[in-house]
Amino acid sequence: MFRSLIIIAALALVYLLIKNRLQARRKNKPKTSSKSSENTVQCLECKTYVPHSGAISSKDKYFCSKQHQRDWQARQK
Ligand SMILES: [Zn+2]
Repeated sequence: MFRSLIIIAALALVYLLIKNRLQARRKNKPKTSSKSSENTVQCLECKTYVPHSGAISSKDKYFCSKQHQRDWQARQK
């Protein structure tokens, strides 16, 4: 009886260690895969998809660069 308790405890410990590792991995993952999983927005000027964090935004509009933002705004007048 005591022996099986130790085995169960050991298994539980291993399980927790594996779980912790997987969670640690998941925590580290966003940094490496953030570029592929990150929301992308479309540049209104050239229709290129750029990562949200790298996009130039003005109000609800997004651009891949300041230049395209200016080009687009110039055409709106
Ligand atoms: Zn653009």
